[in-house]
Amino acid sequence: MAESILVAIDGPSGSGKSTTSKLLATRLELGYLDTGSMYRAATVRYREAFPEGGAEPAAMTELIAATAISVGTDPASPSIAVDGRDVTAEIREPSIAAAVSEVATNTDVRALLIAQMRRIIDEHHRRIVVEGRDITTVVAPDADARVLLVADPAARVARRAAEVGGKADHADVTDQVLRRDRDDSTVVNFTDAAEGVTVIDSTFLTPDEVVDRIVELLG
Ligand code: C5P
Repeated sequence: MAESILVAIDGPSGSGKSTTSKLLATRLELGYLDTGSMYRAATVRYREAFPEGGAEPAAMTELIAATAISVGTDPASPSIAVDGRDVTAEIREPSIAAAVSEVATNTDVRALLIAQMRRIIDEHHRRIVVEGRDITTVVAPDADARVLLVADPAARVARRAAEVGGKADHADVTDQVLRRDRDDSTVVNFTDAAEGVTVIDSTFLTPDEVVDRIVELLG
């Protein structure tokens, strides 16, 4: 059996997690799991069933438990489907980003998705890069490399604005990055590194430089 190369990368929005994780997975020929896309996919389903949000947490959990979320783990073309429907583009809509924290702060929904993440890691024989908010601490604290990626708030807002192109104004993007981090941090701590987790500040580093540092950590 090939050696385990499980890399856990956490960080706030716009810290460069996705770019770095895909690049690293491609370089080391590993799978790539974007756990944020799973919370976003669950949010697509939730908002279909409850367009205004505000459902009882138990009703939300029941709905998500009955939903099939299928994640593609090829770093060259990550994809995600909800009950067989491809939602890869839809999960990036600003309306989903604005609604996702309500789903991600439901601890029973988190437990369902975390169990699925662990199954995906096992299916890949622990040869996978997993990015999110609680990967180093909850999902895979036994990973071979554990990284908390951070960047200055202004750099994170600018990166997210570049990602969404002309689609959103500055206030919307700031809300999506900073307000969302504030809401998310009520259930997961992704601003302080747990013991054994290496902090990498990507503000002044290129994605390749960040990947070089993670490869060094793997030894
Ligand atoms: O990384 P991304 O911005 O796509 O994540 C979307 C949302 O999913 C986050 O705002 C957060 O609410 C949630 N999330 C989480 N735990 C993870 C990954 C994402 O709560 N491991």
